Amino acid sequence: MSERESRSQSCVVPGCSRKVTADKLMCWPHWKLVPPALATAVYRDWHALQRTNDPEARARVLGYYEASRQAAIDAVQPTTKPGAAT
Ligand SMILES: [Zn+2]
Repeated sequence: MSERESRSQSCVVPGCSRKVTADKLMCWPHWKLVPPALATAVYRDWHALQRTNDPEARARVLGYYEASRQAAIDAVQPTTKPGAAT
């Protein structure tokens, strides 16, 4: 049991402390808020990263993954832009 606990991490969304397994980016309540196209992009880039062994290609794919990952995180955070409330 302790082995499974050591492989858990916190949801990547700032302010969220829900535990997720190491292969998950964020908790389910947050993940289901990610637009489907963006969720697909995160999966695609993550799998591409797992399949890539060449260091140069890996660095490029990692860039794609980090961009889609960040877009997913941004998509689930409440937007608090000043002046946007109408
Ligand atoms: Zn979360």
